[in-house]
Amino acid sequence: MAGYCWLCHQTLKYHFHGICHYCLKHLPYLKRVCHRCALPVEQFTLACGRCLQTPPYWHNLLAITPYIPPLSKLIQQYKYEKITQIAFILARLFLLYWQQGYRQQRWRKPDIIIAIPLHHGKHWQRGFNQASLI
Ligand SMILES: [Zn+2]
Ligand SMILES: [Zn+2]
Repeated sequence: MAGYCWLCHQTLKYHFHGICHYCLKHLPYLKRVCHRCALPVEQFTLACGRCLQTPPYWHNLLAITPYIPPLSKLIQQYKYEKITQIAFILARLFLLYWQQGYRQQRWRKPDIIIAIPLHHGKHWQRGFNQASLI
């Protein structure tokens, strides 16, 4: 079953992909970021000064793109227009990114995957926790 790319509206071979190959390839991926906090760094082989001084509780933090269009628009549609099928598209995007880094031995399998908790008031207002759905 065909569908349309959520970013460029081209026909997709598989509707469940959500984002076409072209858009996937041209996302503004983050390049030089601290592997512990995902903030920009000069030398990406090292953690940033802040993380070296006060290491966070986790080993790796993966961020795919900066919060800019086109993905920020998709995330807003997901959160505020409550188009929950976008959760699958974002999860797939994250999985593809993770798999690539895993194959390149940039990170290991996670010990645990948890969703960032949502304030119960927001949860009630939105009707779902966008992170746990992903
Ligand atoms: Zn596209
Ligand atoms: Zn850092």
